[in-house]
Amino acid sequence: MDPAVALLIFGLGLAFGSFLNVCIYRLPRQMSVVRPRSACPSCQQAIAAYDNIPVLSWLILRGRCRHCQARISPRYLVVELLMAAMFLACYAQFGYTLALVKYCTLGFLLLGLIFTDADTQLLPDKMTLPGIVLGLAFSALVPVDDLISHFLPMLVSLDHASRWLSVADSFMGAAVGASFIYGVGAIYLRARGVEGMGFGDVKLMALIGAFLGTKLTIFTIFAGSIVGSLAGLAMVLSVWLKRTRRRMARNHEAASVARRRAWNSATVMLRGFPIPFGVFLGSMAIVAFFFGNQFLRWYWRML
Ligand SMILES: [Zn+2]
Repeated sequence: MDPAVALLIFGLGLAFGSFLNVCIYRLPRQMSVVRPRSACPSCQQAIAAYDNIPVLSWLILRGRCRHCQARISPRYLVVELLMAAMFLACYAQFGYTLALVKYCTLGFLLLGLIFTDADTQLLPDKMTLPGIVLGLAFSALVPVDDLISHFLPMLVSLDHASRWLSVADSFMGAAVGASFIYGVGAIYLRARGVEGMGFGDVKLMALIGAFLGTKLTIFTIFAGSIVGSLAGLAMVLSVWLKRTRRRMARNHEAASVARRRAWNSATVMLRGFPIPFGVFLGSMAIVAFFFGNQFLRWYWRML
């Protein structure tokens, strides 16, 4: 790693993170990301260039608007730092190559979608659809680490064939990811009568599949389901404990009665709670492109 290049890439990451903040705020609200200039959402004052420096401005202003003192979410700072860290991690992993551009692009899209989903429960088409196209296009330039190349390495040594295999794998990843989420969403809708996964999640998984290929797409789906279920379980347990304690203290209910009633209300609450699947799928896709292959190799050896 060249320290000068690393510093440059870190700075570029901060700048892209700053632009991503604009996208996260504006895209779900159907606003243009180019115009007008950024303004404070509470006093509408335009934000001066010197107050728009990534990380530094937020720290100097201590997370408040210069004019009206309204709080500015720490999300702005977090997104900028995460984006810069991810750019740097991609540089460490892929060096100064075209793969660096590909995975920085994927990181940018995923981080944007994760935070937009967490914030608004929306996964805007303006991020997912161009993302799918970019993923398919990149697969012709940066080979997707695919199933076929592991089982038929002699095919891949032919330069021309490997490019087409990579493109095919990218299309297949997109199709597998999208249809799996579509299927789960349809079953969920039939079983519960509420929409658990929308078309946004289907398009997000198509994007991930197009960038990562079939194998890591399956990894992402598994890891995302496990982490999502654990998060749901942790949430129910914490609500259950809190409500049990409250029932015992306020209503003077016996422990066993309080526990049962609190459990019922906690599970009802989870049913009504919109689970941000995009957050789990997106974060596990990031894990997949950094560690997925290492994990799978370790896993095969364990078997
Ligand atoms: Zn303001």
